Amino acid sequence: MRVVKSISEIHSLARDAHARGRSLALVPTMGALHEGHFSLIRQAKRQCDVVVVSIFVNPKQFNSPEDLTDYPRDLNRDLELLEPLRIDAVFAPSEMEMYPEGFSTGVVPGEVAKPLEGEFRPGYFAGVATVVLELLNIIRPDLAYFGQKDFQQTLVVRRMVEDLNLDVRLVICPTMREADGLAFSSRNSRLNPEERKAATVLYRSLCRAEKLAHGGESLASKLLKAIREVFAGEPLARLEYAAVVEPQNLKPAKRVISGCVALVAARVGAVRLIDNLILGPLGAAPEMLLQLALTSWPILDAGGLIPGFETETTRVKIAACRECAAIPTILLPPREFLSGYVKMYYPDRGAPRIAVIGRDAPLSPSTFLYRQPETGNRFVAGLFDLLGVKSFTEFKQRFVLTDALRCHSTAPHVAEKGLAYCSHHLRAELKLFPNLHTFVVLGDDAYLQFQRHLLERGPGGFKPLDELLQPQGWAREEVRIPTLTARLLKVFYCYHPTFGYKRSPSIAPFLA
Ligand code: AMP
Repeated sequence: MRVVKSISEIHSLARDAHARGRSLALVPTMGALHEGHFSLIRQAKRQCDVVVVSIFVNPKQFNSPEDLTDYPRDLNRDLELLEPLRIDAVFAPSEMEMYPEGFSTGVVPGEVAKPLEGEFRPGYFAGVATVVLELLNIIRPDLAYFGQKDFQQTLVVRRMVEDLNLDVRLVICPTMREADGLAFSSRNSRLNPEERKAATVLYRSLCRAEKLAHGGESLASKLLKAIREVFAGEPLARLEYAAVVEPQNLKPAKRVISGCVALVAARVGAVRLIDNLILGPLGAAPEMLLQLALTSWPILDAGGLIPGFETETTRVKIAACRECAAIPTILLPPREFLSGYVKMYYPDRGAPRIAVIGRDAPLSPSTFLYRQPETGNRFVAGLFDLLGVKSFTEFKQRFVLTDALRCHSTAPHVAEKGLAYCSHHLRAELKLFPNLHTFVVLGDDAYLQFQRHLLERGPGGFKPLDELLQPQGWAREEVRIPTLTARLLKVFYCYHPTFGYKRSPSIAPFLA
């Protein structure tokens, strides 16, 4: 584990990781590390090759000088705790390194930064957004990890990433709690034993609201009343705000629907604490609740409706890849796709003549063809049979495989908007190979994406894949894709080698 203090050194570490086609994760923290931070780091380790944890107590996000002075700092302890996690680097810059003399630029976050924390801590989110943007620019991670514990922060950062077109995916991880329900927080260490006991009031009050919702109560006002009542029974705590909000814009909800978020902020003694719960079906896993709040995923996937919750059927699909990247079930960072491997496997990009477009390894990054080219799996075996090649060495001489989807949603089918968004990346990737004359399109998602977004055919302009592939199990046509090349291209449509039950016979004889 390297401990890096200078921007230039962390910059070159990150550049080196990218050059070697390795995916890079950033976990931004302010130190005083605890189990909440470690859960983010473990998730990052599962998803990326190289993990950088930043530790920087950002003065710009403190609106009270005492709070900044009192904020717990112990770099040596943090480094000791990080050692067993086997991360690659800790970036612990000084204040001068991040904000040198003359630094005068800042991010002004939008509407979502205004209520709740924004109201009680003026300037806080401007400070957060500025430091996060600076860290993202220095390290250029593929994925950056944030906790649900700071729910509003995740929305502010997500808005910034979208608005400023930052090339990073956000992963939001569920809140980790102590045995009695208190959310882990660096500030907990400042509570005396009595305050520590009283601090559970935040979680207790949220649980009371959740229980009411599960019991059928759908009026937000009733939930808020219950939260206040729980606080009234705890003299050491002073509630700053309680809110039940719509998850996308933090506007107060009147009626509670699945995915709404209940949030509280309170002072226990001199320590300010925050917490939240996403309201959703009884027994839903934390990741599912995050999906509900952040991506409007269908509630039916969570195992059914609960009384008191209304579902909005119009919100049931993923809105866009960038949104669905905000949940931990997204497994592949962008650098896992072809782009990270181009230099390694295709020194001569003019060589491949055939592009295969499909969905590869949606469940595990380690099975992605280019990551483990010589280790066969069902998909690779099926693909090689279909194309009539014996090994990866043979494959890469003629073919490139690229993915229809960047988000790698694990759902069997992906919403149209996701396919549309990913088609931009697909087109960019195909353009890297100037001599392509044939495409092999595998399975439903890739087919739909190819028809709608590369060939730009309207909804009635093409047959369903299954109908098209009858009776021989594959089909072909000649097309022009003006946004790609002026040439006439051959396209073969086939079943996906592992999704679904049907298989296409080998098309090798036609690919010469
Ligand atoms: P901080 O050091 O407080 O700025 O937090 C760094 C990151 O850890 C933020 O993305 C927080 O949301 C996240 N985090 C803090 N506490 C927890 C927790 N109890 N569970 C999960 N994530 C957390």
